[in-house]
Amino acid sequence: MEMIHRFSHRLSSISIVEKCFKNSINKQFVRNPNLGTRLNHEKSFKSRVSDLKPAFNRNLITIKTFSTSSSSSSSTARAGWFLGLGENKKPILPEIVKAGDPVLHEPSRDVPIDEIGSEKIQNIIDNMIKVMREAPGVGLAAPQIGIPLKIIVLEDTKEYISYAPKQETKEQDRHAFDLLVILNPKLKKKSGKTALFFEGCLSVDGFRAVVERHLEVEVTGLGRDGKPVKVEATGWQARILQHECDHLDGTIYVDKMVPRTFRTVENLDLPLPLGVPKLGVIRS
Ligand SMILES: [Zn+2]
Repeated sequence: MEMIHRFSHRLSSISIVEKCFKNSINKQFVRNPNLGTRLNHEKSFKSRVSDLKPAFNRNLITIKTFSTSSSSSSSTARAGWFLGLGENKKPILPEIVKAGDPVLHEPSRDVPIDEIGSEKIQNIIDNMIKVMREAPGVGLAAPQIGIPLKIIVLEDTKEYISYAPKQETKEQDRHAFDLLVILNPKLKKKSGKTALFFEGCLSVDGFRAVVERHLEVEVTGLGRDGKPVKVEATGWQARILQHECDHLDGTIYVDKMVPRTFRTVENLDLPLPLGVPKLGVIRS
């Protein structure tokens, strides 16, 4: 999930939004210069894969393992991930898969318990953490790097929170929390209380929409060491958990946003349309 800020570009010459997202935008162009047709992506991916065949074998990773469809654009992301596994090469982080790629719209699979300690799974987790931090974002699900497995990572820091207005983070009940890695998470709501806020997603870069989320949730699953974990979360952390768990069900926030609230980051502070409920906790 992208970090959420309600500062508008119109409010300052170099807005905080721009500062926060500038790097990722530039890097995106550097890392993914091929912005051409789908055919070009396919061609590019195939040639990269054939070059990397030894790396697949060495790491017991095959295309079949993570193939969910005939998609080629998610393949591009997977290629990026494979590239990072070559020996004597500087690791290259996977690309973040963007909306429209089938891997983001299909349910993910459980991580087999006996594979959690494997190099393959541990590498995926390490890469997810790096990608989330580099973006930067406060959460990431494995499908977002092209891998349809039930793994989420999330963290929120004092620094990230300091970029947003205090009043806003107070309303959102947003607090810093340490890195969480959860495999095969199961989420349940702990109360009927919900809240409406704008949220964003690294796979829907540059946009936001209002989403209604539960205010109190509990997530159980496994840590990267295979031991059971249980997280009881409220406020913004609960929102991040719901957002990331949705990814594992093949759902992105635009699938459940409040209609007519979808907008660019630049338009974030413009008034909501008539009939859209006010942001904040819903009091019934
Ligand atoms: Zn997301």
